[in-house]
Amino acid sequence: MPDEQTPVTAATMRRRDSDLIVITGAGGFIGGALTRYFREQGFERIRAVDRKPLPLWYQRVPGVESLCLDLTDPEACRRACEGAVEVYNLAADMGGMGFIERFRIACMRSVLISVHMLEAADRAGAERYFFSSSACAYNTQLQQDPNVRALKESDAYPAMAERGYGWEKLYSEMLCQEYTAERGLKTFIARFHNVYGPWGTWDGGREKAPAAICRKVIEARETGQRRITIWGDGQQTRSFMYIDDCVYGIDRIMHCDRLLATPTNLGSSELVTINELVSIVEAIAGVKLEREYDPTAPRGVAGRNSDNTFIRSVLGWEPSTPLREGLVPTFRWIEQQWRDRRAGRPTVRDLP
Ligand code: NAD
Repeated sequence: MPDEQTPVTAATMRRRDSDLIVITGAGGFIGGALTRYFREQGFERIRAVDRKPLPLWYQRVPGVESLCLDLTDPEACRRACEGAVEVYNLAADMGGMGFIERFRIACMRSVLISVHMLEAADRAGAERYFFSSSACAYNTQLQQDPNVRALKESDAYPAMAERGYGWEKLYSEMLCQEYTAERGLKTFIARFHNVYGPWGTWDGGREKAPAAICRKVIEARETGQRRITIWGDGQQTRSFMYIDDCVYGIDRIMHCDRLLATPTNLGSSELVTINELVSIVEAIAGVKLEREYDPTAPRGVAGRNSDNTFIRSVLGWEPSTPLREGLVPTFRWIEQQWRDRRAGRPTVRDLP
């Protein structure tokens, strides 16, 4: 049973519009969407932080203080957290499988962001702190078969996380838990399962499967090649969460005291193979392509799904946007980006 009738969010708990909300990684996909979400709800004091120069931010939300800071530096974290009431830490050096299998050191160095952000948030007297963990924190040995059992929260231990990126997430989760236990900082931890939607990375090496497949299908259709290369054998299974579910879920988890310092799955439980994902995108694009498989490309674990029993039992809610539905605006947005780039207009990656 849900523990509340009216869902508790920043807005319904009557957080004052003037309370300072800090969002890191705000120049990226999810941080940008979260910034827009809170701004649209009328919050007047939002500080968005990212290391990218401002012209490269995916979204710039009007009325938001936007700072360019490298949060591996403790002084930058202190500046970011000054006066904060709530801190949402979404900054991390990350990307899809192509990135996290190749750049493990970069992924692990994001631990510096966690270390310094937690300390800075605590010293600033922040009331709540959110950490964006990942399904990559789960034991990889439970993910060797495409017909996976969905992962429940206790499956992270005994630990055998994804090399590099997953271990950093697992360690940072634990750090959050200790800040709660020892210092009383209220931390909240979501394990995101693949997130997709408009305003996400769609090219350049950091993109994830849904965006990469949309781009490849668009390219094949527009150039008349009619052929697509799929990483691995296409039988890998995954679930994909639409961005609107993700930002709403962050808000719900952050304001639920029963989830204090408790890693919680935030993902869709609609399992599909990569081949099925390609078919859905083909249907949206109105094409059928010849498929080639690249067994040497990064493919990640064989199968992964989110067991939502826990989040459902606590919040009475879970991400539920069907993949077919969420992919339509995602595809349209990437299609426009692709055309803009072809026409020499700026896109999210190559703004001046
Ligand atoms: P993203 O790459 O679009 O955004 C992350 C942002 O963090 C980038 O804009 C980057 O410039 C910024 N950043 C990196 N290092 C920084 C530093 N030292 N100082 C300041 N900013 C820095 O990624 P995203 O998809 O929006 O992911 C947000 C968070 O969610 C990350 O912590 C990620 O690990 C986690 N996550 C995402 C997914 C997903 O499917 N997108 C899945 C699991 C977990």
